[in-house]
Amino acid sequence: MTERLYWLDPYLQQFTATVVSLTEHNSQPAVILDRTAFYPTGGGQPHDRGTLNGIPVVEVIERESDGAILHVLARPLEAREVEGRIDWERRFDHMQQHTGQHILSQAFLRITGAQTVSFHLGEEVVTIDLDQVGFPPTAVEAVEELANRVVLENREVWARFVEAEEAEGLSLRRPPKVEGRIRIVEVADFDRSACGGTHVRRTGEVGPIKIVKLERRGNETRVSFLCGWRALRDYGRKHRLLLESAGSLSVGEAMLPEAIRALQADLKEARKALMALQELYLDLVLPYLEQRVQPASFGEVLTYVWPQLPSGLLPRLARRLSEGRPRLVLLAAGGADGLLIVACGPGVPVDAREVLRRILGRLGLEGGGGRPDYAQAPVPRVDLQALQRALSEAIG
Ligand SMILES: [Zn+2]
Repeated sequence: MTERLYWLDPYLQQFTATVVSLTEHNSQPAVILDRTAFYPTGGGQPHDRGTLNGIPVVEVIERESDGAILHVLARPLEAREVEGRIDWERRFDHMQQHTGQHILSQAFLRITGAQTVSFHLGEEVVTIDLDQVGFPPTAVEAVEELANRVVLENREVWARFVEAEEAEGLSLRRPPKVEGRIRIVEVADFDRSACGGTHVRRTGEVGPIKIVKLERRGNETRVSFLCGWRALRDYGRKHRLLLESAGSLSVGEAMLPEAIRALQADLKEARKALMALQELYLDLVLPYLEQRVQPASFGEVLTYVWPQLPSGLLPRLARRLSEGRPRLVLLAAGGADGLLIVACGPGVPVDAREVLRRILGRLGLEGGGGRPDYAQAPVPRVDLQALQRALSEAIG
């Protein structure tokens, strides 16, 4: 079993060790040392990164059979003595998150009675799963406040080993998952639990603890939170977002929700007014278009091209004009959101999709689609005269 230097001193960033064996893990070179400061993945905490004699350590695994710690390397190592260096930024982040988790779990237990059933420290988010659901926001605020008070009180955090019998009398927050000697991590006068991870010396080093999300998952609640630098970076990001949003609406931060509500109300009004105007336009333009209807062998035909028309109007016009009549209706509008529509009333002996395809072909375009009685295609920035010509040829 490898001697675990990270248990003796979690602040150890450099160490020397002797190679015990060279092996492989998933066809990558791996090395076992007599002692190591590299933390292997376990207990919800990810492994450390760093180097052994300058070679990157990409993964650290505890071998279940004998407790040996495997350092998976980017390339083979050829030495008996090694100097190890821990990626301290990554490790210290893990120590902040992990110690913060102990504090937060105890705060949830004290205020809501909820037990933490699992812990996950991810690259972005840290989560705990609680064995209860339906936490009122006031309870969550109280939990966060208690956790941060414990941080600011800068309490001592320490770890020690005890025998299993002694552990039973220690009223641990979480019963140990291992047998024999048990490692206890204690936050002075606040939390005591069995844990093999790495933690900071004093709660002040955890930095701010911020709960960012609660999600119900069956009979459990997943709490996402951030500690230390992660919380500060998140605060920075959110602050910039808020400033940018408030700036773009020319209001103070505190007025932002109200400004958004006002914008939404304005938009709703504007949409209503637009709909009313469009109805008015339809009523005015339909009689005018009716006058342009021409006779055809099967009934009637109508073509018309607008230089520009708000999108949404053209389909409504096409439907109104072709409804219940043996009439072929070809409508188009130019501009950036130009549109071409072919609509066939009852008894028109052509397929709208076929007519559409022919017109597009004359314009050197393709695309669009629809049904036998209605087809449309976007024709952005199409030449209006060419469009007019193509429509006339289609019915000619
Ligand atoms: Zn821990």
